[in-house]
Amino acid sequence: MSNVSGNLFVIAAPSGAGKSSLIKALLERHNDGSMQVSVSTTTRAPRPGEENGVHYHFVSEAEFLRQVDNHEFYEWAKVFNNYYGTSRTVIEDTLASGVDVFLDIDWQGTRQVKAAYPGVHTIFILPPSNEELERRLRVRGQDSDEVIAGRMAKAQGEMSHYAEFSYLIVNEDFEESVANLEHIVMSQRLRRSKQQIRYREVLQALLKEE
Ligand code: GDP
Ligand code: ADP
Ligand code: 5GP
Repeated sequence: MSNVSGNLFVIAAPSGAGKSSLIKALLERHNDGSMQVSVSTTTRAPRPGEENGVHYHFVSEAEFLRQVDNHEFYEWAKVFNNYYGTSRTVIEDTLASGVDVFLDIDWQGTRQVKAAYPGVHTIFILPPSNEELERRLRVRGQDSDEVIAGRMAKAQGEMSHYAEFSYLIVNEDFEESVANLEHIVMSQRLRRSKQQIRYREVLQALLKEE
């Protein structure tokens, strides 16, 4: 079978809406190597339990800015006073190998990715209410009260960009939201343009008399 290039997905949400948990759950269901999440580079300090190279590549501000100057990022942005960026080569190489890639990035980065890669599929995750968003940030228990207050204050700004995205998931019931995310991904894999490449030989055999 010929190799089909992978699909690129951007998933954005206000902090605490559940995007990391949703992506993680989807990857656990599809642990066949057909999809992966891009590990961003950040200047933020690691949270308890976060591992360098797994959750993020944690670097100093000087190192981050060196990578910016070297054009090593596909996109980058300053979010909550820290820098975050997506490695260019990892995205390009992974998509070329036929693997679907998820970018867990903010709306500023999404604009850059849309400009560089018009075929990207953009998904926005919303919480069911502001009260529930704050509850989830607290339940996660990984940020100080000050950081949580700052993220709640920024949530309105982040959510105001939801209309720039193609798909919208309101993450109320977790399992239903994972299923909805899965449907979005599967529908892209089933596009005729992709299936024509994947099933080139089957189609040739089926249509041999034409
Ligand atoms: P989270 O919101 O709880 O997941 O907290 P993080 O500190 O992990 O991320 C903070 C924000 O930075 C979120 O809006 C992420 O989507 C965004 N972010 C993470 N990685 C990147 C990246 O590589 N590029 C851009 N532009 N934004 C990123
Ligand atoms: P984000 O990556 O968007 O910042 P997380 O994935 O870290 O958000 O989720 C924030 C918290 O909310 C986590 O503790 C997670 O377990 C919880 N959570 C996620 N989705 C739901 C849901 N549908 N119902 C209840 N809690 C949820
Ligand atoms: P974490 O909080 O470390 O991101 O999530 C750990 C795991 O719990 C994730 O892989 C995800 O599958 C699952 N999870 C997170 N939140 C919920 C939830 O609200 N409901 C259910 N059913 N599973 C969850």
